[in-house]
Amino acid sequence: MNKIIYKCRVCHSKNIANITIPTKLIFFPIYLTRDRLFLNFFCKDCGALSHFPKTEASKTKYRGGSYRSRNLSTKNIQPISLPWSSITNKRSNHIYKYLKNYKKNLENFDLIKNKPITSILDYGGYNGFTSYGLASLFNLNLADIVVADLDENGLNIAKSLGMKIIDLGLQKIEDVDLSKIDCCILVHVLEHVEDPLQLISNLNKILPLNSLIYIEVPNLYGVPLCDPAHLTSFSRGSLKKLLHRAGVSNIESGFSHTPSEARLYGYPYSGYQENNYFLCLTNKNNVKINSPSALLNFKNQRLHNVSSIFYFFLKLFIANIKVSLSGVLNYLIIILNILPRLCLYFLRLILSPLSFLYFLIINLKNFIK
Ligand SMILES: [Zn+2]
Repeated sequence: MNKIIYKCRVCHSKNIANITIPTKLIFFPIYLTRDRLFLNFFCKDCGALSHFPKTEASKTKYRGGSYRSRNLSTKNIQPISLPWSSITNKRSNHIYKYLKNYKKNLENFDLIKNKPITSILDYGGYNGFTSYGLASLFNLNLADIVVADLDENGLNIAKSLGMKIIDLGLQKIEDVDLSKIDCCILVHVLEHVEDPLQLISNLNKILPLNSLIYIEVPNLYGVPLCDPAHLTSFSRGSLKKLLHRAGVSNIESGFSHTPSEARLYGYPYSGYQENNYFLCLTNKNNVKINSPSALLNFKNQRLHNVSSIFYFFLKLFIANIKVSLSGVLNYLIIILNILPRLCLYFLRLILSPLSFLYFLIINLKNFIK
C-alpha cells in the first residue's frame, strides 16, 4: 500500500511536524481539542496547522445539507430553520466597511481608484445572505450577485432571492464566465477546502484583472481548533504567504470578528482577534505558485530553531487563555445587558399587589353604590 505523503495545505511544504490535538475532553469546545479524529501538522515554513481526517466519519460532507443540519435536533420539524443566517447577513456590515474604504489604500493602483463595485462572486456563499446584505448596502441588483457553493439547499434559497447560482458539485468554477465580476468574497471558506492555495491561485487566473478579493478565515490564535469542518487553521502570517504565492496583490489586512449577536445563539468566541481578513487584487502577471523565488521567500521565514518553536508554543498558550476568557467576557456582557431589564421586571413584580390595591380603591365605589 502506498504511504500517503502529507504536506502543508497552505504552502505545500513537506517541512511539517506532526502534532497531537486530543479529541473532545468534555461536552463544550476547548481550544486545543478537536471534535473528531484527525492527523494534525504544524508547518515549519509558514506557521499554519493542517488537519487531515483520520476516518471517513471525521470528514465533513457539504452536499445534501448535512453540514448545516449537524447541530439540529432530530425533533426539529420546522419547515425552515435558518437561525445562523441572521449572523451571516450581519457579516455584510463589516465587509461593506472594508470594501467601501479600500480606495484609500490604493495609492499604487491609479487605474482602479475610481472603479465602483458592480458585481460580486460569493464563493462558498451557501444561501448568499452575506452578499444579499452587501447588495443592499452597495445598491446592487441581486441579479449581479453570483453565489457558488456545494450545498443545493443554500443555492435554492439564493436563487429564490434572485441571485445567480453556481453549483460547484456539478460545475467547475473555471468553466464559468466570470468576465463581469469585479469583487469576489470568500467568507469562512478557505479553512474548509482541501487546497486553499490552489483555489486562490485559480481565482487569480480566472477573475478579471484587478478584481477585488475579500477573504476572512478563523484565526489559529483566536478561536478553538475543535471544528471538524476546518481543514486548515491559518495564522495571519501563513495566510499572507499563501496570498503572496497565489499571486494576488495585498491591499490591506487585519482582524475581524463574528457579529456580537452570535453570543445569543450560543457562540461565545466573538472577540477582537477572532478572524483574519485580507483584501487583495487579482494580478495575473504575478502568478508564482511554484516559482523558485516564491519558495525562497517562504523558506526565509522558517521556524526551524528552538526559539521559534518555543515562540509557537507560547502563542498557543496565550491564545488558549484569550479564547477561554472571551467566552466568559461575552456571557458577562449578556448578563450586564439584561440586568437593568431584570431589575425593572422585578420591581414590577413587587409593585403588582400595590397596583391591584389602587385598582380596587378607584373601582370599589362603583360597586357599592
Ligand atoms: Zn506551510
